[in-house]
Amino acid sequence: MNILVLNCGSSSIKYQLLEMSGEPQVLAKGIVERIGLSMGCLAHKNNRDEKYEIEQPVPNHTVGIQLVLAALTDKNHGVISSLDEIKAVGHRVAHGGEYFTQSVLLDADAIAKIEACCDLAPLHNPAHLLGMRAIMDVLPNIPQTAVFDTSFHQSMPASSYMYPIPYRLYEQYKIRRYGFHGTSHKFVAEKACKILGWNIEEKKIITCHLGNGASITAIKNGKSVDTSMGFTPVEGLMMGTRTGDLDLGALLFIMEKENLSVSDANSFINKKCGTNGFSEISSDMRDLEAEAEKGNERAELTLQMYAHRVRKYIGAYAAVMNGVDLIIMTGGIGENSCDTRRRVLNDMEYLGLIFDNEKNKGIRAKDEIISKPESKVIAMTITTNEELVIAMDTLRLVNGK
Ligand code: AMP
Repeated sequence: MNILVLNCGSSSIKYQLLEMSGEPQVLAKGIVERIGLSMGCLAHKNNRDEKYEIEQPVPNHTVGIQLVLAALTDKNHGVISSLDEIKAVGHRVAHGGEYFTQSVLLDADAIAKIEACCDLAPLHNPAHLLGMRAIMDVLPNIPQTAVFDTSFHQSMPASSYMYPIPYRLYEQYKIRRYGFHGTSHKFVAEKACKILGWNIEEKKIITCHLGNGASITAIKNGKSVDTSMGFTPVEGLMMGTRTGDLDLGALLFIMEKENLSVSDANSFINKKCGTNGFSEISSDMRDLEAEAEKGNERAELTLQMYAHRVRKYIGAYAAVMNGVDLIIMTGGIGENSCDTRRRVLNDMEYLGLIFDNEKNKGIRAKDEIISKPESKVIAMTITTNEELVIAMDTLRLVNGK
């Protein structure tokens, strides 16, 4: 059974077609970009490693979806002969507010609720809705699902998700901590427990999703009990271009001194800070590691700050759960950066973790244990795959489970 996974942004559509009958396989993937601009483009790659690119105006998401479907069924570069071979479409949805605790089949009620969350994710949810409606235009009878970045964290207790601001602001605008990357945190925790033969419902796990965006989650008995991203993805860890935790007073001071509007400040905290803004070198860990290696002090300090902040959250979440059994490193940095893993996980004997520095070296994009056999707490690298989670949830929902 083939499932099309879509991640629709305001001017882009990322897609993957997965065959889910047996061992899941990616048949094709690609991206449509510059939707709504004078010239758009599609870049498509199939499972024979053939690339196919076209440039043409893509005035809206419906035309974008038509391009994707044409690429998937293209005589030369396609992977299916007819659209009937696509059984369902799964959408990544950034925000499900307090409405969704799990993935859902789309119906009028679900669409209305996703629409009601547009205020909370003004850049993302409207774009997802455009994608859903475009599918309804082009493939009116196909089942569609929504898989939310936020739903896994709906299990957090109020003591984790409330901000100390007047309660009426929560009641009036639903201002609270939601958390993101939920699909990834849940997936890697379940995958690691499967590998270890553990029952997730008896374990305390800290999952570090360290990619260009980064967040960390405390998972107790299979449920998210705290996570570092908040009302928006800006809170928490230092990221590629986002500040992470910052004194609100400092932001007000910067706004005043640099004469920033609200929109300027939003762009500042999301796009101009983090490892890129601070280092003035790059948001990419590979570049920072190479510069630090050459003796660049700012690059070295950036790497130290990055690791320091992850370590602080690990300590905090061990305290929140009264201990930890497993620490997972995932995302582009967690899976690939041996240096970041060493900086974060070394010297954690106080917690019962004995890091295996030798084994850690050279582990990239693999599911591996990186703590020593005698370590009470296990540390692992686990590869994440958000598209696969969306396809698996979609398959489960269309099969009525
Ligand atoms: P993601 O957002 O999960 O795709 O992660 C992307 C980030 O992973 C990049 O910006 C890099 O900082 C990081 N990354 C990918 N490969 C490596 C590597 N081999 N070493 C260090 N960092 C890496």
